[in-house]
Amino acid sequence: MASFKFVLPEERIPKDWYNLVADLPKPLPPALNPKTLAPVQPDELEPLFPRALLAQEGTRDRWVPIPEPVRAVYALWRPTPLYRAHRLERALDTPAHLYYKYEGTSPTGSHKPNTAVAQAFYNREEGVRRLTTETGAGQWGSALAFACRMFGLACKVYMVRVSYEQKPYRRVLMETYGAEVVPSPSAHTQAGRRVLAEDPQSPGSLGIAISEAVEDAASREDTKYALGSVLNHVLLHQTVIGEEARLQMELAGEEPDVVIGCVGGGSNFAGLAFPFLRDRLAGRARTRFVAVEPTACPSLTRGVYTYDFGDTVGLTPLLKMHTLGHSFVPPKVHAGGLRYHGMAPTVSLLVAEGIVEARAVRQADAFAGAVLFAQTEGIVPAPEAAHAVAVAIAEALRAREEGQKRVILFNLSGHGYFDLQAYQEYLAGTLASDSFAPEAVEASLAQLPRVSAVSEGI
Ligand SMILES: *Cc1c(COP(=O)(O)O)cnc(C)c1O
Repeated sequence: MASFKFVLPEERIPKDWYNLVADLPKPLPPALNPKTLAPVQPDELEPLFPRALLAQEGTRDRWVPIPEPVRAVYALWRPTPLYRAHRLERALDTPAHLYYKYEGTSPTGSHKPNTAVAQAFYNREEGVRRLTTETGAGQWGSALAFACRMFGLACKVYMVRVSYEQKPYRRVLMETYGAEVVPSPSAHTQAGRRVLAEDPQSPGSLGIAISEAVEDAASREDTKYALGSVLNHVLLHQTVIGEEARLQMELAGEEPDVVIGCVGGGSNFAGLAFPFLRDRLAGRARTRFVAVEPTACPSLTRGVYTYDFGDTVGLTPLLKMHTLGHSFVPPKVHAGGLRYHGMAPTVSLLVAEGIVEARAVRQADAFAGAVLFAQTEGIVPAPEAAHAVAVAIAEALRAREEGQKRVILFNLSGHGYFDLQAYQEYLAGTLASDSFAPEAVEASLAQLPRVSAVSEGI
């Protein structure tokens, strides 16, 4: 039997995260204070984040050691398996070799605990007792709830009200870990009360939930705030995925020709891709990189590369990134983790430089790929990960047309066992179509903050 599973022994969990910022072909444009348009200084953000994470946010060190207590928690599920998808290859009748790194083996079923655990650790080291965050569908909230429990921190999650009501199981998971979960908008914050005063039936949004979580953290000495994607330190923590995958591809005796990941804020894609990008930027490899987004929220393929707010309300520093405009409200596709108007600044820079390719996939095509994947490989992909599956399949089919062997590696960022409602709709043929509305993007882009060419050039 051909080998299909490449397992690293536990003691080979990488001891360092890899910081691609050290090797970027151009300096990363700094985050700007929205009032002064000056680069943000770390101490401005100290009410929200611990010093260790702010230092990681700005560091240019190539390697950042993973603290031993973080590796000890990682060991509950890391190293994660790398599989070769022989059955999927046969079903596609392709000469391509398809590999996937499976992050769904974590306690909460996605890659998100890789950073949640690190963030909880650094907060506890600096005496923080409590973390707040927002969550939409609940992947990030459950990862942080788990991580806080590991380090004895209290956790409060502001969960967008529609999800709170329609998707109770992730909420129950967070509560099982001991987190306090409230529907947002809530009466617990000024921001929430303001929205409720205008509309007591407000379904909530990620933007409102962020405002509540940030206000809560800023107003209490013992509390800080945690973010699940986009920022440099989050992407840094996720590189444990790609560092493992590099060693596992060595075990398999192959090098990827193309590396693929889905992108919401960019963290699971970066986590897998950046360690392989190190080889490409150093001229040791010619690997292609493909970031996959939904056609319903196409920041990389239809957005503009400019400074914008990270949140919907306009509270955060300005980040230079591909954006649909911070007031863009993406249609309600099932891949909730991909419904973000912006993109990690590093991933954006790599796309702008032509080093990373971007592709948009329709929801129905993502599910078609995911169902074929489930029927051949057994695992039901998260709706987000389904977007990466669909592009991996398309690359394999192109290899067949071209009669070429091609080594394809993609990130299966999570499983979809909390998302069976979405599969039910797909199988019943009742999935809503996800047409993209250019007018909505135009209206939203008209509200971009004005940043002069001078500060853009910093
Ligand atoms: C949150 C999530 C994503 C999207 O976030 P990124 O930061 O772009 O990785 C993708 N897949 C899964 C399973 C998620 O939970």
